[in-house]
Amino acid sequence: MLSSVTLLSTFLVIVATCLAITIVRLRHQHARTKQLVLNLQDEQTRLAEANAQLADVAIHDSLTELLNRAGIVAHLDAAIARSRDSHQIAVLFVDIDRFKSINDSLGHSAGDQLLQVMGRRIRSVLPSGCTAGRLGGDEFVIVIENVPSVERISEIAHRLTRDLSEPLEVMGRMVRISASIGVAIGPDSQDTASELLGFANVALHRAKDAGRDRVEIFTPQIRSEMQQRSLEEHALRRAIDAGDVVPFFQPEFDATTGHIIGAEILARWLKRDGTIASAGAMLTMAQDASTLERMTSVIMQQARPVIRRLATLGLPSGFRFRVNLPHRCTPRAWRDGQVAGYFTGIDPTMLMLDVYETAVFGDLVGAAGVLTEMRQLGARVCLEDAGRGGGSMSMLRSLPLDEIRVDRVHVDSLTSQANDRAVIRAMVGLARDLGLSISADGVETSAQADALLAIGCTTHQGHLYSRAITAAALEDLILKMSAERAIEGLMA
Ligand code: GH3
Ligand code: MG
Repeated sequence: MLSSVTLLSTFLVIVATCLAITIVRLRHQHARTKQLVLNLQDEQTRLAEANAQLADVAIHDSLTELLNRAGIVAHLDAAIARSRDSHQIAVLFVDIDRFKSINDSLGHSAGDQLLQVMGRRIRSVLPSGCTAGRLGGDEFVIVIENVPSVERISEIAHRLTRDLSEPLEVMGRMVRISASIGVAIGPDSQDTASELLGFANVALHRAKDAGRDRVEIFTPQIRSEMQQRSLEEHALRRAIDAGDVVPFFQPEFDATTGHIIGAEILARWLKRDGTIASAGAMLTMAQDASTLERMTSVIMQQARPVIRRLATLGLPSGFRFRVNLPHRCTPRAWRDGQVAGYFTGIDPTMLMLDVYETAVFGDLVGAAGVLTEMRQLGARVCLEDAGRGGGSMSMLRSLPLDEIRVDRVHVDSLTSQANDRAVIRAMVGLARDLGLSISADGVETSAQADALLAIGCTTHQGHLYSRAITAAALEDLILKMSAERAIEGLMA
């Protein structure tokens, strides 16, 4: 009996001990689980913070700490979604004027410093509720929601141009820059973020074209002009593909002898309604560089057999065909063989290549490479529009040239404006000093021809001498003039 009681109590002690151990273990495990849950929660918070930081970095520009392109586009998208039918949004597209010159003269890190100052100035001038971003380079965008009025936005934009042009110190030097601003207000109907940005960019380019340091607003009138231009460009592309755009030839003369010495190849659109559109009119329609390139390519394809035929018939010695390279080029046009391809199958010694500074700005090195190669093969290179574009003087140093051409704008007022006479006289002197020849375009009166001769410019082209004519008419003219010269030779 006693041993059974002892046994039972021993058993109970064991059970109680086991229970106690289990309870302690369970408590311990519970505490560990709780700690694990807390650790996990901590981890999750840290992960969420890291993700938020990453997302923040992804939409911010590290240089200015403003939103970057992705950030500002996402913000504009959201603003458009919020605004539908209730209020309007303004997009201000800001681009610093001649910023490259800061990089070139003071270095890239000075340029960076200047961009940072611009970013801070933009932020400080903005009313609350506006958002600013840097698209890249020297381009900034500001989005203003709940536009009170166009006048108010214009005020803000003008104030911005004033604030941005305050002098600032960069790398120990005081500099003063200006900025141009294009403004678009929308959305109208289904305008997207990229369309609004595009409209503001169009206005910005107008501001740049109008002389920089100014504000331009994208108006409904500009919108309809753009739509009209897009229709015209479409029609032009169709005409090029249908073979309605053909080469004409405008003869060039040595005004001292009256001899024909070359002909400029000019595109003409023979319209189905019987009218003819000039190269100048087509240039205004061809907004897209690829349209101009396509036009040049098609014109040269058609001019090639004409040049070969005239060469076979016999051209006056030194005769050259002047080819207008596209005024604007797509980014890789110079390097991918496209420009060089226009001259395939033509003897380069019969070519004068007219180059516009607007066509080479984007890739001066590529352009200089192609032109140097063509010169080595015997072609000559002429800088067109000299004295018109702002960069002409630097082009004279950067490009391999044989000739500069006086623009018709100066020839037009040569006899009435002393300034234009002075410009041409300076250009003739400059050409002489640089060992280049000089020619003039758009000579329409004897008075202009005489004035040009007096200044020392003897190669003339213009309506005084001949309009642009067909290939057949050019052939007749060359044959007639050659015959006249032969007779003169016999008589002498
Ligand atoms: P424009 O008046 O026509 O605007 O002339 P621009 O010289 O300002 O020309 P544009 O706006 O086309 O060129 C901007 C330049 O900005 C081109 C590039 O060399 C420079 N750039 C782009 N990104 C950076 C950058 O992060 N830092 C610096 N310092 N320069 C940059
Ligand atoms: Mg700029």
